[in-house]
Amino acid sequence: MILFKKTGDLRRWIEQQRISGNAIGFVPTMGALHAGHISLIDISKNIGPYANVGPSAGQHSASQPLAGQPPASVTVCSVFVNPTQFNDPKDYQKYPITIEKDISLLTAAGVDALFLPEVQEVYPNGTTGLETYDLGRLETILEGKYRPGHFQGVCQVMRRLLQLVGPDDLFMGSKDYQQCMVVQRLIQLMDWSIHLHRCPIVRESDGLAMSSRNTRLNPEERQRATAIYQSLQSLRSGAPLSTAQKILDDAQFRTDYISICDAETLEPVPPEPGAVALIAAFQGEVRLIDNLVL
Ligand code: AMP
Repeated sequence: MILFKKTGDLRRWIEQQRISGNAIGFVPTMGALHAGHISLIDISKNIGPYANVGPSAGQHSASQPLAGQPPASVTVCSVFVNPTQFNDPKDYQKYPITIEKDISLLTAAGVDALFLPEVQEVYPNGTTGLETYDLGRLETILEGKYRPGHFQGVCQVMRRLLQLVGPDDLFMGSKDYQQCMVVQRLIQLMDWSIHLHRCPIVRESDGLAMSSRNTRLNPEERQRATAIYQSLQSLRSGAPLSTAQKILDDAQFRTDYISICDAETLEPVPPEPGAVALIAAFQGEVRLIDNLVL
């Protein structure tokens, strides 16, 4: 795995991949990696080259196999704790950083290139007064409502990373359900033809969705945290919202929202198969999110 800290160096390497006819898969992360992140890398590596060739091929899809060479794809991963997407400065300060372990995991997973920039490399003109994006209703509901500015920050960093890497395929986790929709909207706004793959949620054996923030839970909080998944499962089995809410309350969660929404639009809907149930709630100081399709 080649490690890049500078934008210019990564750009030159990407250009080389294009010249060689390699398709590019991209997995952006904030580090403190776990099996959920690694699953995205595995999917990128297994999806194969040119999975995305055709009308929806990537913005730099000049990549075509050179005569006599088999087509190939490379997987690029970024680790960057993006300051502009933290609405709570304490959450930013306490965000776990485990870069040595991350590098070992990414090497073992077979990532071709890791981008590990400093803040200044991504935001050479600083992090204030940045551009804004028209995200419509997505910005006022669920995560958008409870984390003002969060999705603008997500778009600010994703625009820079996607412009730099120019992937054919982008791999993101459906754990961050609304974030996937926001990034799809960004891709549309920018008129890019990047294929966004929404990948399944990887869970601990007791059902807790893997998250970098789980490491901030103390042992009691960690045990109680499984109530989020139990609450989602109760909805899937047909229990009313009040029952699902009680499961959270009994586990000392402070709930931001518990909602059942249309899986495509996130409009609130009655519980019905195919709808998605979404929860955001605090266990102690740590805010966790999860979702389940009913
Ligand atoms: P993060 O480092 O939390 O910004 O996450 C980076 C990417 O990994 C995002 O696309 C997340 O949705 C995805 N991700 C995080 N946790 C999981 C999980 N438990 N299962 C699958 N994907 C995940």
